[in-house]
Amino acid sequence: MIIDVHTHINNYHEDRVVSLEDCLNLLTETMIKNKVDYSLVLTSYKVNEHRPSTKQVVEAIKGRNNLGVVSGISYLNYNHRDIREIGEYLEKGLIKALKFYPGYEPFYPNDSRLKVWYEMAIEYDVPVMFHSGDTYAPTGKVKYSHPLHIDDLAVDFPDLKIVICHVGNPWIRDCMEVVYKNKNVYADISGLVLGDFSDKFERFMKKEIEEMITYAGDPNYLLYGTDWPISNMKSYLKFMDQLELEDDKKELIRWKNAAELFNIDVAKL
Ligand SMILES: [Zn+2]
Repeated sequence: MIIDVHTHINNYHEDRVVSLEDCLNLLTETMIKNKVDYSLVLTSYKVNEHRPSTKQVVEAIKGRNNLGVVSGISYLNYNHRDIREIGEYLEKGLIKALKFYPGYEPFYPNDSRLKVWYEMAIEYDVPVMFHSGDTYAPTGKVKYSHPLHIDDLAVDFPDLKIVICHVGNPWIRDCMEVVYKNKNVYADISGLVLGDFSDKFERFMKKEIEEMITYAGDPNYLLYGTDWPISNMKSYLKFMDQLELEDDKKELIRWKNAAELFNIDVAKL
């Protein structure tokens, strides 16, 4: 069983418009090819012709039981209608988590403006995910996406379940401390590479992830994710395979932690 907790259906080649349906079909085909059983699709903090809204994705994945939606929230632009809409989706169980994009937008995770969202996440028992580490775009401001800032949020909201995306790369050491210290903090290994891992980079990252597990203990906090289509699924599965780790611990990362955290009914897959 494999659960990918981090995929996108944004169109990153903005010279042409691709339909949402085509993006979802491509995701599904790629999952089948790589024997991935379930994926979470993360919407953006921006909505435009290349980046569908949460509403569009919730409606488009109806009937696709191997996909779940994580709603991207804009720190700068949300309004009372967004709160109401997302609240309703959460109540109906149509959203698996909320995603925030510090770095891409200028805010720290413990900003009081986001309290209303965190209270909603606690009430409906869904995790909140944070972009963390390097930004894909040079216009991002990385002081905001440093994983150390997650610690304030984790301490102030002990009932909030938090995911540090990309293990805070390149600040993986800071991420491992925040995960080690706070039992409500998890991390996904997505987006460590654009496209395929080179042999050299794979060796480097293998060491980094193994070091994290050595320090922070049994990986019941670590989640498999790719950041597809930015990262290649096949290359990521190979990376996962070669981690020096007992099989039962790899299973935690591949799907068991995710199934529990995101409340995914694997019996139905
Ligand atoms: Zn991503």
